[in-house]
Amino acid sequence: MTIDAETNAASRRSLLPQRVMQFLPAAAVTTFITAIYLLGGLVVVDNKLSDFSFTLNPRPASGNLVLVAIDPKSIEKLEIWPWPRRFHAQVIDNLLAAGATQIAIDIDFSARSRPEEDRILQDAVRRSEGRVTLPAFSQLSRADDGSRILSESVPLPEFRQHARLASVNVRPDPDGLIRRISTRDADKPTLSAALAGSNFQNMEEFRIDYSIVPSSVPRLSYADIMEGQFDPAAVSGKMMMIGSTAVELGDQLAVPVYQTVPGPMIHILAYETLVQGRALHSLATGPMVFFIILLTFGMDALFRALSWRQSAIGAGIALCAVLGAAYAVQALAPVIVDTAAMLLAVILSFVVSVIRRSDQQAIRLVFQSLDIRRRDIMMRHVVEHSFDGIVTTAPSGIVLSVNPAAMKIFGQGETNIVGGHIGKLFPELAGSETPEQLARQLHVGEAPHELRGQRGTQSSFPAEVSASRVEQDDQTVFTAFVRDITERKQQRQTLEHQARHDALTGLPNRVMFQERISEIIAQAAQSESSFAVLLLDLDRFKEVNDTLGHHMGDRLLEQIAIRLGTVVSETDTIARFGGDEFAVILPSARNTADASDTSRRILSAVTAPFELASLTLEVGGSIGIAMYPEHGDEPESLVKCADVAMYIAKAAQTGVAVYDVEKDVNSVRYLTLSGDLRRAVAEDELVLFYQPKINLKDQRVVATEALVRWIHPVHGFIFPDDFIDKAEQTGVIRELTYWVLDKALEQLSRWHASGHTIDVAVNMSARLLNDRHIVEMVSDGLAKWNTDPASLILEVTENALMADPSTAMAVTTALSELGVRISVDDFGTGYSSLGYLKDLQADELKIDKSFVMAILEDAGNETIVRSTIGLAHALGMKVVAEGVETTEICDLLENLNCDVGQGYLFSKPLNVADFDEWLTHSEWGVNLTSQTPVGNPARDPVSVA
Ligand code: C2E
Ligand code: CA
Ligand code: CA
Repeated sequence: MTIDAETNAASRRSLLPQRVMQFLPAAAVTTFITAIYLLGGLVVVDNKLSDFSFTLNPRPASGNLVLVAIDPKSIEKLEIWPWPRRFHAQVIDNLLAAGATQIAIDIDFSARSRPEEDRILQDAVRRSEGRVTLPAFSQLSRADDGSRILSESVPLPEFRQHARLASVNVRPDPDGLIRRISTRDADKPTLSAALAGSNFQNMEEFRIDYSIVPSSVPRLSYADIMEGQFDPAAVSGKMMMIGSTAVELGDQLAVPVYQTVPGPMIHILAYETLVQGRALHSLATGPMVFFIILLTFGMDALFRALSWRQSAIGAGIALCAVLGAAYAVQALAPVIVDTAAMLLAVILSFVVSVIRRSDQQAIRLVFQSLDIRRRDIMMRHVVEHSFDGIVTTAPSGIVLSVNPAAMKIFGQGETNIVGGHIGKLFPELAGSETPEQLARQLHVGEAPHELRGQRGTQSSFPAEVSASRVEQDDQTVFTAFVRDITERKQQRQTLEHQARHDALTGLPNRVMFQERISEIIAQAAQSESSFAVLLLDLDRFKEVNDTLGHHMGDRLLEQIAIRLGTVVSETDTIARFGGDEFAVILPSARNTADASDTSRRILSAVTAPFELASLTLEVGGSIGIAMYPEHGDEPESLVKCADVAMYIAKAAQTGVAVYDVEKDVNSVRYLTLSGDLRRAVAEDELVLFYQPKINLKDQRVVATEALVRWIHPVHGFIFPDDFIDKAEQTGVIRELTYWVLDKALEQLSRWHASGHTIDVAVNMSARLLNDRHIVEMVSDGLAKWNTDPASLILEVTENALMADPSTAMAVTTALSELGVRISVDDFGTGYSSLGYLKDLQADELKIDKSFVMAILEDAGNETIVRSTIGLAHALGMKVVAEGVETTEICDLLENLNCDVGQGYLFSKPLNVADFDEWLTHSEWGVNLTSQTPVGNPARDPVSVA
């Protein structure tokens, strides 16, 4: 068993009790509820619920059993009380005469009255031929010795002889209400069962269905019957129940729903319950317990899956459903489902789920605070070791903390800085007393801003500050990232000078020439004057270079530059275009004659012999002249025309030539590369190569970078380094980038369609980051190919970002709002600050290949890479290392926790066909995920064990 498998088994073992544990609460709830249910603890609630159920679905009586009521009206009308028994005899006779089938009499005939009265009743009963039923009932009475005994009262023997006997005993529930009734009482049927018929006399005790409405029982007044004042149709073929309803007679019984009903009514309702097939029984204990278990575990599972709020709603619905189902069952069948236990199951399950949830929340809080502490430690580490100075202040400007880098930058110890006003560090902030002032002066939340920093009392330095406001526990803290940019500024100045001057001669270069000529065009356009542009190309210079070496060639060029300076005036501009090509602007040359004059002078200066290292050298030259506005009104066209003229002068060996449209034939030279490029984009001379990016954790390809190449019809294969600059200068870069984006997204959709889940990266030129159209362009491209924005990575070089940080930030922010990812390319070659990168919300840092390729040779490089990875991770960015050429470098990067690698080790940039091949067949390819990679044991984690 491998170590992995072992730990797996162990965790499974520890999971098992955990899985059992999670059902514990539900089991406890079930046991508890079942116990109180069985002990009868829920009877009261169940009774209330079932009593209520009767009100939901009222039913009428059958009408077969008619109540002959000894009502207040009868008592009043018949005046004599107690009634002589002949009254009853009269009633029996009248009812039988009218066709009554049965007469049940709920009147106590156990004691004797006057003999003649008893005889009259006896005769009436005899005449009824067994159709009269008389009541028997148990009674508590006092025995001779004074003790209480239960004795049965039955009618006198002479009445009993010709009548049937039925028990009228009822037994109330503990709460005094009558809910249940039996069909037999010892040897006799109960009154209701006797009336219902022999089929019903052997049933168990049942519950009376109080949904049968007492007022729907047909009722006749005793007095009316006796006096014969009734409709015989109301009696004919029906059964009769004679009994008292008058409250004065005291025969009132407490029942559910109707509070009290007269004694005979209980027997009528019980009779109706029997004949309507509604003899109700509670659901048996077995099914009941089953439902409790089912419900508890069901609810437990449900509440586990739902949120707190959803659970509460679910519990409400479950309660209604249980009640609804119980009542529905009761309406359809004579079964009372006692719901109290089930309702309790729902409620308790919900309570348990709430308790469990709050428990889990407490646990989560503990983990969260641990996580926060861990992050805190990491953040502190970053702050301590940050190359940037970090200063935090209170809203008043009082410094709260400084990191070591800040102390170094300001040349002061912590005790000197902390507690003092930030104005001591930045004199410009000295007046900021309010949080608003401070926020404004610090440019909080904006792109990095330059301030003067104070070092000690003597010196000051330019500082780049990016500040943010942190709200913490109702407290505002300003954080400023500070960087001493003295060196950067100097460097930039030098760079700017270098960028605009020729290193060898110190003359302006093409860039500065371009600026100058633009200025002069503007002036000339205003004053409607002319001026001349000359282009000088040396003859035989190549020979000097080739025979005497570059060194001599360079010295010669220096000399020529000096001489040129002597022939032209102050206001003229001389530039070196590279090689042996010079250009001159003559702002005061009003016509070709002026220009030719100066040109001749220049030529003679150049052709005069030079003394160099005791050698005498002679070179010739040709000059082409173009006039503004005659030959062109733009820098490019003027230079192009001068170029053509110079070419002609050289061909004709005339020394000097003025541009002539006639002679402007198809010379390769004036097919400027920019025109070529534009055509290249339009006519699909460009192709995209793809280079994979590999996830170093699982060694699988995650993305591919699109890299453009130019298949020139004449010059053949051209690498981007040779034309991207040109494209940027001439503005073709916009079309080029759109072309690349379009092709890359199209290709991506093809890969996705064939099941390769990779992302594509496209390079964004620096120029485009100052161009807001780019956002539209990207979103159009995504829409056109229906691409998920998350699959597109835009690589932006660090230098591009720093050229104009605030615009670049605005554009990248807009781009990342589209959902595409931003990768900072060539990271390490520029000067981007920690604070700026944080605000930029870049997703990825691409460490420049110069650091990666030399990582093993130079310990400094490893430190840079290591700290960059730490920094990027702390800021939530992924790190890509480009230029991974060897397995050793790859392993080291993996150890340094680098996320992604790119380089020749994995693959060179490939055309689509080769890339497809690579995808399916290389060990890093996407289609091999299920297989064990072969051929690279050093990086195969499985084989280590
Ligand atoms: P980049 O974006 O830094 O691209 C990486 C360059 O490094 C590529 O050169 C690639 O071939 C090369 N490279 C990759 N792995 C290794 C390695 O292991 N060792 C070495 N020595 N080199 C490696 P490529 O294709 O010549 O591209 C050069 C630059 O041209 C790119 O640098 C990028 O800035 C620019 N570029 C390429 N395509 C485009 C494009 O479509 N648009 C724009 N704006 N620029 C592009
Ligand atoms: Ca790139
Ligand atoms: Ca790069």
